[in-house]
Amino acid sequence: MTNNMTVDYLAVGAGAMGMAFVDALPTETDATMAIVDRRSRPGGHWNTSYPHVRLHQPSAFYGVYSRELGSGRKDSVGFNAGLNELASGTEVVTSFDQIMQQDFLPSGRVQYFSMSEYEGNDTIRSLVTGAETTVAATTIVDATYMNVTVPSMRPPDFTVAEGMICIPPNDLAHPGVLPAEHHVVVGDGKTPMCDRPCTGVQPSRRQRSKRFDRSPR
Ligand SMILES: Cc1cc2nc3c(=O)[nH]c(=O)nc-3n(C[C@H](O)[C@H](O)[C@H](O)COP(=O)(O)OP(=O)(O)OC[C@H]3O[C@@H](n4cnc5c(N)ncnc54)[C@H](O)[C@@H]3O)c2cc1C
Repeated sequence: MTNNMTVDYLAVGAGAMGMAFVDALPTETDATMAIVDRRSRPGGHWNTSYPHVRLHQPSAFYGVYSRELGSGRKDSVGFNAGLNELASGTEVVTSFDQIMQQDFLPSGRVQYFSMSEYEGNDTIRSLVTGAETTVAATTIVDATYMNVTVPSMRPPDFTVAEGMICIPPNDLAHPGVLPAEHHVVVGDGKTPMCDRPCTGVQPSRRQRSKRFDRSPR
């Protein structure tokens, strides 16, 4: 069965970009909106990122315009002690979920298609039931442009030698998964920088880790 609906805007992707776009409309316009995402909750890749991920900037500088992320406090413990709080990934996802449930949907102007695929040609297909909805939208907003992937969403893009164990950062959170005396961190961006203080790897073991990155610096 195919349903039909008409809206002013259809946002594809309920990550930070799609949520920020939809957030601006109810206060600025009287437009109607639909937002579609194949995930079960808003927040995009933050639903998949490793559990100890945090923002690298103060919470107040992230999220949507209408609702401040965090409580405006300074962290009192950890590597960020004394500085403006950095939301955890869980806080980011929770915030987006609250915005959807408490602001967007009660406004009566936003329809949310979770666990649904935008297939192009104005068609949304439920990944649960297979039901299709045809959306006649004046404007379609592609909020998938950044196409974010984190290591847990794909196999490594390098060859792993036989006998080596290669895990995404998500698995570090499971007890006993980091048994090796010597380990190698591949990639020297935000993720390993965040892993160091967060995963509880003892300093003596950290010194035995090697870090590789293909970027010049
Ligand atoms: C580990 C990590 C940490 C980061 N930390 C920070 C930070 O501290 N500060 C900062 O500013 N930025 C950070 N970023 C950058 C981050 O990518 C952006 O902040 C932002 O979250 C990206 O949001 P997005 O909506 O563009 O993408 P996504 O989060 O990827 O959302 C896109 C959504 O579109 C959905 N989608 C795609 N195609 C379809 C389709 N055809 N049908 C239905 N749904 C579809 C996907 O399921 C996804 O949920 C970080 C990124 C990573 C990976």
